[in-house]
Amino acid sequence: MENTGNIGNSKAKNLSDKLFYRKKSAFEKGGAAELDLALEYAKGYSVFIDSAKTEREAVEYTVDMLNSYGFKPYTLGMQVYQGDRLYYVNRGKSLIAFAIGADGVENGFKIMAAHIDSPRLDLKQHPIYEDGGIAYAKTHYYGGIRKYQWATIKLALHGVVIKKNGERVNVTVGEDEGDPVFCITDLLPHLAKEQDTKTLGGAFTGEGLNAVLCASPFMEEGKVCEVDEKVKLNLLYELNRRYGITEDDLVSAELCFVPQGKSVDVGFDRVLMGAYGHDDRVCAYSELTAMLENLDGRNSVMCVLADKEETGSDGVTGMQCRLMVDIIDSVSRSFGSNPGAVRAASECLSADVAAAYDPCFSDVFEKNNSAMASCGVALAKYTGSRGKYDTNDCGAEFLGKVRAVFDRAQVVWQTAELGKVDAGGGGTVAKYISKYNIDTVDIGVPVLCMHAPFEIISKLDLYNAHKAFSAFCASR
Ligand code: MN
Ligand code: MN
Repeated sequence: MENTGNIGNSKAKNLSDKLFYRKKSAFEKGGAAELDLALEYAKGYSVFIDSAKTEREAVEYTVDMLNSYGFKPYTLGMQVYQGDRLYYVNRGKSLIAFAIGADGVENGFKIMAAHIDSPRLDLKQHPIYEDGGIAYAKTHYYGGIRKYQWATIKLALHGVVIKKNGERVNVTVGEDEGDPVFCITDLLPHLAKEQDTKTLGGAFTGEGLNAVLCASPFMEEGKVCEVDEKVKLNLLYELNRRYGITEDDLVSAELCFVPQGKSVDVGFDRVLMGAYGHDDRVCAYSELTAMLENLDGRNSVMCVLADKEETGSDGVTGMQCRLMVDIIDSVSRSFGSNPGAVRAASECLSADVAAAYDPCFSDVFEKNNSAMASCGVALAKYTGSRGKYDTNDCGAEFLGKVRAVFDRAQVVWQTAELGKVDAGGGGTVAKYISKYNIDTVDIGVPVLCMHAPFEIISKLDLYNAHKAFSAFCASR
């Protein structure tokens, strides 16, 4: 006798397999082979992120990479030819690289745009003061930080000082073996009774984020000198000895404190990687390497590494500056093409990290629409806050196209929304690109504890971001 029950079950099972969306991890989809590839790919990334903690350092590292692939500097108005590999460094802090494919520019550019600035503590213009026998640097935080996370951690000093004669002095202290580090102090628990009653956001103030720089007075003939601010004098003496600068040179400096140290594997299995500034160098590196692997195809490809995303993309090095459009327009004219038509035919992946679902803070996430670590690169139709304010809400048509491209290339991907609808919000550079009539969608690697001094990503998501960017570069 026929067992109709089993047939019924099997039909339901088939139907549910066919009709349901079920999120699968990159472990399930890619197996051990993909895991090996991801672990290998992440090695190159860790070298990049250890060498490029600021936007300036990221630009320098990228230029070296581009040079090794035969890229040449581009100037606006320059005649460009098929096969050209070019880059434009904007004031040392942002970079646009592009390669002209066999199709020229008629079919637009495949643009990928990430940012290379990260939250940190900038030094004020008059940063140095002495109190209680210690010389400190006053800071002004850059980007969205949770202030309490920056006390009692090791900090390194990075940046440049531009002297009045235009001379540039590069500063990096705290990263090499044997270097000193810097630190913002916190209260001992014994005396924190009142501080403990404050809110997490209120216990530390911006003006409270002062870093210890020096704690000994200037000595003269073996004895403590006899001027005011002896410790500050000792510090300035050391800065002058090392860099040839005086206190007023700090007015035209860009110095910042970033978390000291290198990237490191997290967990016994080594699939997670912790580091400062995954946001957004994890997308910068994966899109850059994707472009470099797709230089000789039909498409023209463009890799944008922007500055100032963390503070709203303003200023000459942020994405609100017209530079990218000027370059596209100028290159288009050099091919005799209509710049507006080239932009209309272009497509962009706005590459920025997503918030990874954190089971320890599950109440701010909506599980069905959150990105999970190791479940692939995350596509976000929109970002923003409240009623989708301040976002590029990507059209379903372009999203449908991107989705098909990823599936054909067996990219492990998922969707992402930042958190619960009214829990907060955030934006990306996407809306500053789509406003020039370029189809744009947000995509990025999910990050745990985003904007903390130590952020965590999955190497599988990094690898699948790279696969996604690569598939996009080659897509028709
Ligand atoms: Mn970001
Ligand atoms: Mn960010």
